[in-house]
Amino acid sequence: MIRVEDVRHVYKTADERVALDGVSCTIDDGEFVAIIGVNGSGKSTLAKHFNALLLPTSGKIFVDGLDTAAAENLWHVRKNIGMVFQNPDSEIVAAIVEDDVAFGPENLGIAPEMIRQRVDLALDAVNMSGYKNFAPSKLSGGQKQRIAIAGVIAMRPKVIVFDEPTAMLDPQGRREILQMVKRLHAQGLTIIYITHFMEEAAQAQRVLVMDGGRIVRDDTPREIFTDTNEMRRLGFDVPIAVEMSDRLRKRGFKLPKKILTATELAEALQ
Ligand code: ADP
Ligand code: MG
Repeated sequence: MIRVEDVRHVYKTADERVALDGVSCTIDDGEFVAIIGVNGSGKSTLAKHFNALLLPTSGKIFVDGLDTAAAENLWHVRKNIGMVFQNPDSEIVAAIVEDDVAFGPENLGIAPEMIRQRVDLALDAVNMSGYKNFAPSKLSGGQKQRIAIAGVIAMRPKVIVFDEPTAMLDPQGRREILQMVKRLHAQGLTIIYITHFMEEAAQAQRVLVMDGGRIVRDDTPREIFTDTNEMRRLGFDVPIAVEMSDRLRKRGFKLPKKILTATELAEALQ
């Protein structure tokens, strides 16, 4: 679905900041990939390359086989890759929920009667059907983010890139969004999910770790998060179950290696 070939990105600021420094990876159709990395490691810059909001300074990105740098591919690339950002307030454009969700498909030139249907299905998919005529300003952060996601779903992309979608939400809002993301993945969408919550990343199929504009690890969450020394070296917290297993082992508990989730730890202890 996405192929990144040796991409460098240098922001044209006075200090010529190198944000991506030779990134290569492929993401297959239907995958759920999390991207983690400390602030400034290049996650958002990479995300913006997936739908051609940014173009590589050198190297190439292909979406569904199409070079993102070719102007004639832009429409297809943007249609296939939906983006959800951190702040739902900056993504909501209309004063009524259903108009907001309709905005994307309208821009794609979809016929009005089809748009109505798409909006209904998209609101249904995010459990927000009851809020069609609400003003977005009356909604909670989590609900607003779900409306923003509905707007993306209504454009029927193949991939949705989430850039820290839960960073501004409370725990309840975070759970809602993650459930939504997992459901979309189960329905066949390709998911790229940037987060600084390790518990969220642990639920992906695959985790890319960025550091200094490079991908430094590409593995399953289990391999990545149970490598606690490496995690700490890179500046991450480790998931609670991993941390707790570590401490229990130090106190003489004989636990299996590579425990990742609370359920696994509970079962091992039992
Ligand atoms: P992350 O999302 O992992 O925090 P970013 O991709 O936002 O990282 O940033 C990577 C690097 O690029 C950082 O050093 C950041 O300061 C720089 N950067 C990001 N956006 C811009 C910009 N618009 N102009 C100049 N430098 C930028
Ligand atoms: Mg970022």
